[in-house]
Order: sequence, then C-alpha cells, then structure tokens
Amino acid sequence: MSYELPALDYDLKALEPHLSSEILELHHGKHHKAYVDGANGTLKKLADARSKDDFSAINQLQKDLAFHLSGHVLHSLFWKNLGPEGGGDPSGGIADQLNKDFGSIDAFRKQFDAAALGVQGSGWAALSWEPIGQHLLVHQVYDHQANFGQGTTPILVLDMWEHAFYLQYRNVKADWVKGYWNIVNWQDVDQRLAKVRKAPAAV
Ligand code: MN
Repeated sequence: MSYELPALDYDLKALEPHLSSEILELHHGKHHKAYVDGANGTLKKLADARSKDDFSAINQLQKDLAFHLSGHVLHSLFWKNLGPEGGGDPSGGIADQLNKDFGSIDAFRKQFDAAALGVQGSGWAALSWEPIGQHLLVHQVYDHQANFGQGTTPILVLDMWEHAFYLQYRNVKADWVKGYWNIVNWQDVDQRLAKVRKAPAAV
C-alpha cells in the first residue's frame, strides 16, 4: 500500500485573496507531495531493513515515518478544512461543543490564535476531539507530529510553517491567522465532530 497526494476540492485561485494561488500550488503540489513521497520512501526503507535484518538506522527511520505520515495526515485535513464558501461563525453541533468546552466561540478563537501564533519554529494549531473526556481541546503541534495528546483526533488545523504564508504575508503571522478564519469551512469541521464523537476511546 502506498500513500497518494489527494486532489484539492477547489481551484488554486478559489481561496484568494486570503490564500494566494501561488502558495496553494507550492504548498499542495510540492510540500504536501514531499510528505507523501517521504512516507512511502520510509516504509520502503523499513521493509528493506526487515529483509536485510539490519536495523542500524531504526531511530532515524521511525522518526522519518512519524514526520512524513503526520505531515500527510495534517495537510490532507487542512485542505478539507478550507473552502471558498468558508468563514463566518460556526453553527450546529460544532458551535454547541465549542461553547461548552471553551465558554464561547470568541474564547475558543482567542486560544486557538494564541496557540498558532505562539508556535516556536515550525508547527500547527489544532482543534482536536479527546474521547476520554468527551471534549474538544486545542493543541500546538511541533513539526507535524509532536506535542499533542495521544488518542486525540484533529478536526480543524492551521498550518503555521513559514511555507504556508510567507510568500503572501511575509513575517506578519497574525494576518495569515486572520485570513485563515475567512476560508475555514465550518460545515466540514461540524461533520468531522459528529463522526469522531461516535468513536470509542482507545483506553
Ligand atoms: Mn504545510
């Protein structure tokens, strides 16, 4: 089995002016593609290691697998979280859950924005469902794979790597975060919440 780069549900220009077609083309076609290729390449190296019974590079290979696979998962989710008809305020189940878990939509957004803008180096902000407590949590994800709770499922993510915004927003990260809220597809997030709520906790 090998991983594949998923097609976008919208045209490269569909998210402008908040996300330029130049960034979207590079981000999806080059950066996301590199994670897909990296995950496939690492799985092949692990198969080679097993066939040769040579695990001398195991630590690097396991790190590479986590990095590339997590990059593929987060970017696949990120594209689905965005849409040309996005923006505005959430409604329905996702709005009720955000109000319950964060006090208000506004308080959620402030925490999510602070988490996104506070990422040191490369990483993401993520809104994730945590099935043991049956609640939503915000996480800062370092790189693609570190610093989030085991067993949680992200339903809304924001890419804060420089490749996600620098060509358009330069160093003004806060404007990228503002632009992001204009293209968030809340219906997608609402559907994801409805689905993950039904999933059993791992422990
Ligand atoms: Mn990215």
